[in-house]
Amino acid sequence: MVGLVSALFFAACQKPPVSPSPAGAGFEQSDAPPSKFEPVSPAHIILVSFDGARPDAVQLAAMPTLQNMAREGAATWTARSIVPPLTLPAHTSMLTGLGSEEHGVFWNEWIPAFGVLRFPTVFSLATSNGLLTAAFSGKDKLAYLFPTGSVSHISYPKPDQADYYRTNHLQGARQVAALAAAHFMAKRPHLMFVHFLDADLAGHFNGWLSPEYLAALGECDSALALLRGGIESSGVTQTLFLLTADHGGSGLSHGVDRPEDMTIPWIVWGADVRRGHVLTNAITLPDTAATIAWRLGLRLPTNTIGQPVRAAFDLAGR
Ligand SMILES: [Zn+2]
Repeated sequence: MVGLVSALFFAACQKPPVSPSPAGAGFEQSDAPPSKFEPVSPAHIILVSFDGARPDAVQLAAMPTLQNMAREGAATWTARSIVPPLTLPAHTSMLTGLGSEEHGVFWNEWIPAFGVLRFPTVFSLATSNGLLTAAFSGKDKLAYLFPTGSVSHISYPKPDQADYYRTNHLQGARQVAALAAAHFMAKRPHLMFVHFLDADLAGHFNGWLSPEYLAALGECDSALALLRGGIESSGVTQTLFLLTADHGGSGLSHGVDRPEDMTIPWIVWGADVRRGHVLTNAITLPDTAATIAWRLGLRLPTNTIGQPVRAAFDLAGR
């Protein structure tokens, strides 16, 4: 059943890549030693994307880990995605700080003929400054955002990779989290991207806010707990988590400029974050890249529309 469901989802939402991965033939790229560049923040930053997570559902679902981090950190349930609220365009904005008009990625599939990403991301900037970076995705198409040399380590599902979505290029949140946690314990990257797809998958098949969708969000929360536990067990104490989504959804789909599709959660928790703070300023998805760049002391291109969410942080005494 899972195979059939996955196959149907795959047919509806994705096409297989037809050329070698944009990250090149190697599954793991070199872990470059840190250079003289020192990040402004001593924290290790972990960006977690909950694919298709509507904030109203996130508050309804059994997500104790995320909900506690929202209460303890700085959060809003009314941040906005970009138009179109689709996985690849939205993640492009999340990682570049650009709007869709600026980055021009309006397609939602991995289309090699369209070339590789032409703009820097917070990951490529961090990597080029000698920081260790890593990306763990549940969908192969997000590898588009991590061209060769832009990230120290990348992991995404491959056709021959044994996992419980084995019929295609998807990988469940728990497995992604386990890989990411193990990598963090071994390498302690300065910046890590972790992508959980389960809620989006359930939304496309059972409907956004369906019992299956809410259960999938719970599965993603378990994965978050697994990830956080692994990171904490590494002994690293200065961590900054940023939890958000690429888009929401309604019925069996998403992609339209309507509140159900556009509204996303945006939560920061950890080092230097204000405690128990409700963010009231208008936050958009490109602010994610801008906030990470600001915390790391990196400079995004001048046409970036994202703004650092300074209100989420308490830097007094630093
Ligand atoms: Zn998505």
